[in-house]
Amino acid sequence: MTTAALIVAAGRGRRAGGPLPKQWQEVAGAPVARHTLQALAHLDQVVMVIHPDDQGLAEAAARDLPVRLVHGGHERADSVRLGLEALERDAPDLVLIHDVARPCLPPALLESVQEALRTHPGAAPALAVSDALWTGEAGKVTGTRDRSGLFRAQTPQGFRYADILAAHRAHPGGAADDVQVARDAGLDVAIVPGDERNLKITTPEDFARAETLLRTGMDIRLGNGYDVHAFEEGDAVILCGVEIPHSKKLKGHSDADVGMHAVTDAIYGALAEGDIGRHFPPSDPQWKGAASEIFLKHACDLARARGYAISNVDCTLICERPKVGPHAESMMAEMGRIMDLPSDRVSIKATTSERLGFTGREEGIAAIATATLVKS
Ligand code: MG
Repeated sequence: MTTAALIVAAGRGRRAGGPLPKQWQEVAGAPVARHTLQALAHLDQVVMVIHPDDQGLAEAAARDLPVRLVHGGHERADSVRLGLEALERDAPDLVLIHDVARPCLPPALLESVQEALRTHPGAAPALAVSDALWTGEAGKVTGTRDRSGLFRAQTPQGFRYADILAAHRAHPGGAADDVQVARDAGLDVAIVPGDERNLKITTPEDFARAETLLRTGMDIRLGNGYDVHAFEEGDAVILCGVEIPHSKKLKGHSDADVGMHAVTDAIYGALAEGDIGRHFPPSDPQWKGAASEIFLKHACDLARARGYAISNVDCTLICERPKVGPHAESMMAEMGRIMDLPSDRVSIKATTSERLGFTGREEGIAAIATATLVKS
């Protein structure tokens, strides 16, 4: 059983205010559309239907995520149909059609829609209306309505793919949503319990609510790393990727870049993935003299493969000499290049140990580092 997500993102969404359609505006550190994509990226296929003018914004929001962008049509129903058509070549069994403006989709809600599709041709979440309902005109109440049996519809609205494609192709237009298209084609649609957290961003106030919900669910990880290398005969040290002339060199199996090792271990630590030695055993001759860049890149790739963005790293080098200050800026630039991070997210600083201990006696250099990873 394969399941595709179809995200409808072709609207211009101006009621939310701001210079861009709401799905491209930022909430909790990323465009609304990116949060929505992340909630659905684990499905077998993801198609996002966009306005042709938004191609660049959509590509930026979808960066590194497995999503296909499809240009939409004039009305919402046209966009959905074009998205469904785009799935036809590698047709899924089920399709979940979701509003891009609902970025706080709880995983359990998604599962309950999928579960209901085992026994129904259509299923969609909704919340029973609990407030009294009025009609009104010119600022005055003109009547009341019975709220019993009324629901507030949410998405994702899920269907058997072939059924909903046929229903959209046959529909004359004017439907409020995909549930209406399905029902007009005679398909049964089950109601699964909706979730208040699955809000649709419509007004500027909704951005604040979504921000709170998304931040609460955020997976933030810290890791620390510590490393020491002793000095031996030589004429330069390599620290955080930068060669600095010195009266000694650092001793080690690889290039002995103590700062880069501490940062690498901090990233592995945040992932609970051990340390450099676990991934690159010193007993293995292929890593002899290796550039530490290989280790750091591996840790960064592993973090990104697990869905984490590296938010920042901070490294302190502990030595009397060489003086680090004059080289700190090029170290930050070099580390940023290797990690694919802007250099303002990479901090390299130094301290002495007041001539105390092995670093004070200039027998070697120590480094400590911290890394912050955020599930992106
Ligand atoms: Mg080391």
